[in-house]
This record gives sequence, structure tokens and C-alpha cells, in this order.
Amino acid sequence: MKKAPIIWTTTILFSLTFLVAAIAVPWYAIAVGFGWFEIIATILALGYCGMSITAGYHRLWAHKTYDAHPFLQWAFAIGGAFALQNSALHWSSDHRDHHRHVDNDDKDPYSAGRGFWYSHIGWMLRDYQGEVYHDYSNVRDLQKNRIVAWQHKHYLGLTIATNLGIPVLLGWLSGNMLGMILSVGVLRLVLSHHFTFFINSLAHIWGKQPYTDKNSARDNGVLAFLTYGEGYHNYHHIFEYDYRNGIKWWQFDPTKWLIKSSSYIGLTRNLRTVPEERIALAKAKMQLQRAQQKAQLLPNAEQLLQLLEREYELLVARMQDFYQLKKQFVVQKKQALIEQYQTADFKLRYREFKRHMQQQHQHWQRLTAALH
Ligand SMILES: [Zn+2]
Ligand SMILES: [Zn+2]
Repeated sequence: MKKAPIIWTTTILFSLTFLVAAIAVPWYAIAVGFGWFEIIATILALGYCGMSITAGYHRLWAHKTYDAHPFLQWAFAIGGAFALQNSALHWSSDHRDHHRHVDNDDKDPYSAGRGFWYSHIGWMLRDYQGEVYHDYSNVRDLQKNRIVAWQHKHYLGLTIATNLGIPVLLGWLSGNMLGMILSVGVLRLVLSHHFTFFINSLAHIWGKQPYTDKNSARDNGVLAFLTYGEGYHNYHHIFEYDYRNGIKWWQFDPTKWLIKSSSYIGLTRNLRTVPEERIALAKAKMQLQRAQQKAQLLPNAEQLLQLLEREYELLVARMQDFYQLKKQFVVQKKQALIEQYQTADFKLRYREFKRHMQQQHQHWQRLTAALH
């Protein structure tokens, strides 16, 4: 099969910036040394680029997991151009295809099935997309967003203005032009690129699959650290409309923290989350599947499989009872209509149902852990 033609602009850009970051930056660090101003500016610029992609391009525009004030949208539009990852419109179109056709080597633009290199960067170096490159039929909603449309129209100018303008301005302020161009200009761009690209490559190869194994996406805490929380990619692929990727409080998801904290000052609204019941059920189902696979290999397979089936059904029933009651509880609390004695009765039942579910859950964890 004939290989797709090379796209020279991206190939040269990625290669040159990478070479400068790999050779000239360390050389400068040893020969001259970077000052605090350059180091702090690089970290801040890296965060600005990264979060414009994760909170803006990804969770706001591609998935519409919340609404954002125009002020924040402008900030993301400029930061996204600074990150040099194509316009938000184009990026979102590719990304919606990625979710819709995940792992389909012909339709997923960065399918992990085509290997690490392809899903990481290879897909941008050759013209694999051909005619579909300018097909924006899956982002009609975004074409109507004036900020997204404006960024798309002026994308080239914005990338040049930010990628040259910001380092030069900072270099002029600090009096160290070369140091600032190497750090905020080049190193920041290369790190920002590859950290984001890891979500398409490594986050589909390396990590755990607690919620689903229907696609290659994985949860990986190390990658979450480099990608502002996007490393919880297994969760994200099953519940893509949730504004969170790391759902536990201890999971590292600064993108979620940014979106949530912005809601307190009115910069974000309508944050969408998946009901916890659906999350818990998805997880239990995966545990069942894994335990069944293990049980099948053991001598008393039939007995074990029956036991698993029974316990699983019980767990699901307990969960449904509990979450049903919890929902009622929330509704009732909001209405504030229940009498005192009813509240007491309700609380009693709430605790009882919760205990039932937790007991069964502990039981289930022991059982599935034993079969691990
Ligand atoms: Zn996504
Ligand atoms: Zn993915």
C-alpha cells in the first residue's frame, strides 16, 4: 500500500522544536543557566497551554461537559493557539471522531490499534485524513460559537502572535531574550505537545481498566500528573460527558479543580456528572467479568461461578435500593416538607440500607480479590 504523503509543515515544526529542546536547551542550561524568572514563566506557560487544551478544547468544546463564561472561553482560545494544536474546531472534530470510532483503525484519527508512534504523533505527520480533513459536520454546534469560529478563522495569526509574542515580551522584560525563547518559547511548546499526545498514545496502552474493557483507554495516575488529570482515560471513555476525569477526591485532576472552582465565581455553570450509581455498577460489572475469567480456570469453577453470579445480583439489588433511597432523600431534603418523625425514620432506613450495601460491597471486594 502506498504511504500517505508527508505533511512537511508539521514534520519540520515538530522535528525542529524537538531538536532544539533536546540539544540547545540542555546546552544552555549547562553553559549559561536558566534563572528563576525563566523557570517560573515556563511552568506557568506550560500550565496555561495544557489547561487550555484539557479544560477548554477537550472538556468544554469537544464534550460540552459544562458551560463557560466568554471571558474563560477567550482565555482558552488564545491558550489553545499558544499550545499549537490546531484550532479548537478542528481539534474537537478529530476528538469526537476518536470517541465515536475509538480503536477503529480506519475511522479513529489517532487509533491506538495502529501503535504507539502513530497514535502519539505519526497521525499528524502524514496526510492520512485526506478529504475528511475539512469535514466539520460533527462540530456544527461549535461553528455557531463566535469565539471558536473567531479562533478558527485567525488561527495562524494567533499561533504566531502567541508563540513569538509571549516569549519575546518576557525576554524583553527579563533582559534575557535567548534564555526566554529557549525555555518559554521552545521547551514549553515541546513539553506541552508531548504531554498532551500521551493521552492518545500511552493512556490507551498503559494503565488499568476499572470501568470498561470495551475500548483500549486506561486509567493511569502517572499520566494524570503530566496531563492535568486526563490520565483517567478509562473513566473518560465510558462517561465522556462528565466534567471530571479523576472522580475520587484524591485523584490528581487539576482540570476538574479549575472547572469546579471557577463555578464558585460564576465563570462556569451546569457542570455535568454521571450519577454515582452508574459508576458503581460499571465497576462492579468489570469486577464480575474479571472474577469469572479467573474462576473458570479453577477446579471448582461451576460452584464459584454460581456464587459470583448470586453475590453480584445481590450487590446490584443492594446498590439500587440504596441509591434509590438516597435520591428520594435528596428530593425530600430539598422540599423540606417531611415531619420530624418521618425524618428520623428516613435516617434510620438510610443508614440501614447503606450498611446493607456496604456489607455486601465488602463481601464482594473480598470475593473478587480472592479470585484476582
Ligand atoms: Zn475525550
Ligand atoms: Zn482516548
